[in-house]
Amino acid sequence: IYILGIESSCDDTAASVMLNGTVLSNIVASQKIHETYGGVVPELASRAHQQNIVPVVHEAIKQAGIAKTDLHGVAFTRGPGLMGSLLVGTSFAKSLAFGLQIPLLDVNHMQAHILAHFITDASSAKPPFPFLALTISGGHTQIVKVSDYFTMEVIGETIDDAVGEAFDKSGKILGLGYPAGPEIDKRAKLGNPKAFKFTKPKVDGLNFSFSGLKTGILYFVQRETKNNPNFIAENLNDICASIQYTIIGILMDKLKRAVKETGITHIAIGGGVSANSGIRAALKSGETKFGWTTYIPKFEYTTDNAAMIAIVGYLKYKNSQFSLDGITASPRLKLGQ
Ligand code: ATP
Ligand code: FE
Repeated sequence: IYILGIESSCDDTAASVMLNGTVLSNIVASQKIHETYGGVVPELASRAHQQNIVPVVHEAIKQAGIAKTDLHGVAFTRGPGLMGSLLVGTSFAKSLAFGLQIPLLDVNHMQAHILAHFITDASSAKPPFPFLALTISGGHTQIVKVSDYFTMEVIGETIDDAVGEAFDKSGKILGLGYPAGPEIDKRAKLGNPKAFKFTKPKVDGLNFSFSGLKTGILYFVQRETKNNPNFIAENLNDICASIQYTIIGILMDKLKRAVKETGITHIAIGGGVSANSGIRAALKSGETKFGWTTYIPKFEYTTDNAAMIAIVGYLKYKNSQFSLDGITASPRLKLGQ
């Protein structure tokens, strides 16, 4: 079964062709334009998707070595995401499926971040059901109980900023470029994680909060630079290491709690922030410390990509879960909807 996956929820235009769960091509056009603005500008994103979508889809089909007419289904991201961005992928996928007279498969972006683990070459071992998924990205922070491909329950999530935003906004305060996550990660390796102490938020249950941390960092930096104008430059690696250490602590506390409450010890991570080396190391150490088994997919399947959309499309195709006529983009689509 050949499935074409299309992803356009935020600022990456992506297309992938998959044969029975195996990736034949995985093309991503990242939009550089937003770096100038220090964040994604929705209007510019949707315009760039319009420019990119035809060449990106064309390239994915070409690299897969097939013809359009070989496809059995077209999968696309229905939501959550930016309305203008989602609309480009949705209308394109609908027209293509209609033109080829093949099924259309609507996909939830957050479900796709989780099911990316089931792409054939995502990792050496697949998580067994039920497992806990920690999805950490630029727009989301969730702990999800995954009972099977299509039964997922969000048991904890952020009540304000996402963890990716915590990295990016902290980086902005420190004068780092956007997105700051990768650079904080890099600098954290060279710094002392216990150099500075930031307060962890107190949030009930399995929910997260990251906006207080950002404010705490802002006040801390303002206070210190008043005494020493070169404070940031002189301590940048230590500050980055301390911020990352605090964020990892917040994630691990909730994860430990989720394991305790559910009795599930298989933990799979997804989303762009799972690229973070400190988070990966903390998860791995949970294997020996707490008896967890952790699953970390290949890097290219953790950030936004279309292979993860194609895998959900493929699983839905096998289950005959096709899109209804008149399906539309849904910016606030929830898991399980
Ligand atoms: P969503 O999936 O919720 O719609 P998104 O698609 O914008 O959000 P992703 O592309 O999955 O998010 O992830 C982008 C985020 O990952 C950015 O906030 C970026 O700073 C962060 N990030 C990437 N690499 C790292 C890293 N090594 N350490 C920390 N954060 C990182
Ligand atoms: Fe994403």
